[in-house]
Amino acid sequence: MLRASFLYLSHRRGLQRFVTRQRLTASLAYRFVAGDHLDDAVRVVSDVNRRGWSASLDHLGENVSEEKAARAATDDYLAAFERIAAERLNANVSVKLTQLGLDISPDLCRELLTGILQRAQQLDNFVRVDMEGSAYTQRTLDLVLALHERFPNSGVVLQSYLYRTADDVARLNAAGVRVRLVKGAYDEPPEVAFPKKADVDGKYEAEMQELLLHGVYPAIATHDDRLIEAAKRFAREREIPSDRFEFQMLYGIRRDLQDRLLREGYRVRIYVPYGTEWYPYLMRRLAERPANLLFIVRSLIRERRAA
Ligand SMILES: Cc1cc2nc3c(=O)[nH]c(=O)nc-3n(C[C@H](O)[C@H](O)[C@H](O)COP(=O)(O)OP(=O)(O)OC[C@H]3O[C@@H](n4cnc5c(N)ncnc54)[C@H](O)[C@@H]3O)c2cc1C
Repeated sequence: MLRASFLYLSHRRGLQRFVTRQRLTASLAYRFVAGDHLDDAVRVVSDVNRRGWSASLDHLGENVSEEKAARAATDDYLAAFERIAAERLNANVSVKLTQLGLDISPDLCRELLTGILQRAQQLDNFVRVDMEGSAYTQRTLDLVLALHERFPNSGVVLQSYLYRTADDVARLNAAGVRVRLVKGAYDEPPEVAFPKKADVDGKYEAEMQELLLHGVYPAIATHDDRLIEAAKRFAREREIPSDRFEFQMLYGIRRDLQDRLLREGYRVRIYVPYGTEWYPYLMRRLAERPANLLFIVRSLIRERRAA
């Protein structure tokens, strides 16, 4: 119920304007977001790298409705690649196709993604295309598959809550496309997605095994202890070396787990979002764990009392 409410709120543009201006929600957002500017993200990624993790930079933004905004987002990504190279950061980038104009025109989106992939290729870097709501799944996979032959430095995300994902895993494995596997963060109807968490978790485990056996450098992106243990066990049993896959987690979530995996010798990448368009991202993080809201309100009250 709370999950659905936060996901509903994530689409309310009017509320976005109000919430983004409030100090309380801004403090909440900066638990999960590096800061408003590329400089903030670079500082966080330098720290993340110093501690031993790699990173994926996400310049926040989605569902842009003007070409100008899509082109500006592309420029931001090109600038991010320059900084990653100049500062020798161990980081790639994650992009959303609706940020590159998918809602405006598929041709525009293809042109902008191609530009980003070209620059990434010149700099020997990698671009991960995030997966959004199910209305975009087919178009996202079609575009990534169409560009992958020319740009093998591209990969995509699959969501185990969708019924279709087992087939997509097989298709992308056959094409040699790198996959990040997640459970899925959007509000999907029972016609396309498993409503029960237990079913999503079961599918995640099966798809993760397929990716570990037949995929190209898969990313196991979850904070779920049980699934992480299952991945480690499966890789050990099948003698899959720990440099053939990586774990991925979100900035600000389960630092203990991120540390532990690193100590155990696994590769871990932290997804680091930055920028002012944090409202829908924050709402999805609250939907995953509504207790986050309570946690932050309590710590802010404590800070006020101590001040
Ligand atoms: C690197 C990365 C990239 C992602 N990219 C995408 C994408 O492109 N498209 C997409 O749809 N989704 C994406 N997601 C989000 C994903 O779909 C899930 O919504 C999210 O990861 C929560 O699911 P979980 O696997 O951690 O498992 P859950 O069962 O939801 O959580 C397991 C445990 O993790 C911790 N946890 C989970 N979420 C939170 C939170 N918000 N705050 C605090 N603790 C939490 C809790 O301890 C919880 O018990 C991404 C996730 C990661 C880690």
